[in-house]
Amino acid sequence: MVTIRRLPEDIVNRIAAGEVVERPASALKELVENSLDAGATSVAIRLGGGGLDLVEVTDDGCGMAPEEIALALERHATSKLPDEHIELVSTLGFRGEALPSIASVARLIVESRPRGSAEGWRRTVDHGQVVEDCPAALPPGTRIRMENLFGKVPARRKFLRSARSEYAVCLDVVRRLAMARPEVGFTLEHDGRRVLAVQPGEGLAARVSRVVARELAEDGVAIDVERGAARLTGVAGLPTFNRGVADHQYLFVNGRPVKDRLLVGAVRGAYADMLARDRHAVLALFLEVPPEEVDVNVHPAKTEVRFRDPAFIRGFIVGGLRHALEGEAQRSAQAPAASAMANWRSEPATLIEPARPAASLQSLFAREHSRQQAHVNEAGQAWRGYEASVMASPAARAEAAEPLPEEAVEYPLGVARGQVAGTYIVAEAADGLVIVDQHAAHERLVLERLKAAGAGEVVTASQALLLPEVVDLDEPSCDRLEERAEQLAAFGLALERFGPAAMLVRAVPSVLGKSDVQALVRDIADDLARHGPSIDGGALLLGEKLDNVLATMACHGSVRAGRALSVAEMNALLREMERTPRSGQCNHGRPTWVKLAHGDIEKLFGRK
Ligand code: ADP
Ligand code: MG
Repeated sequence: MVTIRRLPEDIVNRIAAGEVVERPASALKELVENSLDAGATSVAIRLGGGGLDLVEVTDDGCGMAPEEIALALERHATSKLPDEHIELVSTLGFRGEALPSIASVARLIVESRPRGSAEGWRRTVDHGQVVEDCPAALPPGTRIRMENLFGKVPARRKFLRSARSEYAVCLDVVRRLAMARPEVGFTLEHDGRRVLAVQPGEGLAARVSRVVARELAEDGVAIDVERGAARLTGVAGLPTFNRGVADHQYLFVNGRPVKDRLLVGAVRGAYADMLARDRHAVLALFLEVPPEEVDVNVHPAKTEVRFRDPAFIRGFIVGGLRHALEGEAQRSAQAPAASAMANWRSEPATLIEPARPAASLQSLFAREHSRQQAHVNEAGQAWRGYEASVMASPAARAEAAEPLPEEAVEYPLGVARGQVAGTYIVAEAADGLVIVDQHAAHERLVLERLKAAGAGEVVTASQALLLPEVVDLDEPSCDRLEERAEQLAAFGLALERFGPAAMLVRAVPSVLGKSDVQALVRDIADDLARHGPSIDGGALLLGEKLDNVLATMACHGSVRAGRALSVAEMNALLREMERTPRSGQCNHGRPTWVKLAHGDIEKLFGRK
């Protein structure tokens, strides 16, 4: 016989805590949201040990009287549901479960003093038990401290990550909330060090560029569009100002930071033909819709939302973004008709190792428009003698057609006949027409060389920079790089910590030549971030992780699209591709070259 029992209160709280308090950052988010709901004009945050030891949030909001403090610590007690209409809620919180949940899995010290009240009050709850209830001295407002998270819940504590990774997530939370409320001032201290300070009353654009990236002020466009009752504002990075991870996309719905799939997808859609597939836009977008159009109550941490008319929202965002970006003349070229493309395919033929079949030529053509023109470099013997060439050149150049030289029969990739769009090499092989993506191909060659260097086959030559270069990055990125410094040094990239939020680069692998050190280091940091936290489980094996880093280095070291090549250089590249294993696909899995067989050409023209 089964007995049905009602769960005791403390168990209910702990279960709720499982949803609301996953880690220090989720508790921090709840506390800061409460401060904002309380009408604070400034919020001061202190963290200790990535939030594992301490999370403290102090505000100058409305405060709570002693009996309100007691109530606030009870389950489902909230001051925020006007007339029981959950759809119309405009505050960040409304479930009334954050404080009791946190208090059930940590030591929570709530101190508060309402404005106009002579003194304050403190109530301390330790893992569900009230251990202190007494007067306290503090200025008007509220100060809440969380200590010893999961101290008595060892099963949960095990799942916490290192202080470094927890700190990174906390920082992200603060950034998002600071952007959501430019009118409120924020300070953030970690282990006694000030990491962020923004003044109250900042404009949106100023706040966004201060919190996200200074570059956005120049490399971004302001968005402000309306359709019906919906409004979209914010700053969108130009496609050329892109990053290797999507972490720098900040999305808000009615003032709430969200990580919503629909919105992320819309952003992707808007940039689709302007960004390479592995690059991500940097932006902050604020969507305002009437409250009845959106349900914010679908996720305990309130980071996902549900729209009544998703198609409208998607169309609105894609349209608004594209319109703003097109105003910047960033349109990319049209890919050729799909029907003509069907016959093009990558053909490994007699190469050392077969390449994967081309997904579609579309991706090949779409790949490079947005990349920044970077420094050129001379990796590999085949490339020497380049300096002599090229001023402004037409988009396509051709060699006078001569009969195919004898030796061409031996060259699977043929003999160079010309260059198109400064990006593609057109070659004639004995059995067809070959098109090579010069950037993708060279990138691959550099990667293979770097790997060989790493495997000790070739001495890893490192080239010291005349002047060490300082690269400003956020703290978590620096942490990740510092942690990998030794391995990176093995590949010739010598860098060291330079203050809390910068790295000093002393040397780069010589195979990379004069590449853009800033962009290189930033992309490697992104790579390390993308491929999981550094210390604990679930992360990629070191080798795989370094492969990604090497791929990133290779990308920086290679011949960019848009660079005119001499015929000799083109042929040298083709020959080197034939010699190099795995040269048929680039580091991102796309083909580096495609071949159209004679028979296929005939089909294209209806001769067959
Ligand atoms: P919710 O935010 O969903 O209402 P919480 O558990 O986060 O639930 O908070 C419970 C209540 O405690 C809030 O409704 C609010 O009245 C009060 N409260 C919490 N934090 C503060 C604060 N910093 N200042 C003033 N009141 C607060
Ligand atoms: Mg709350």
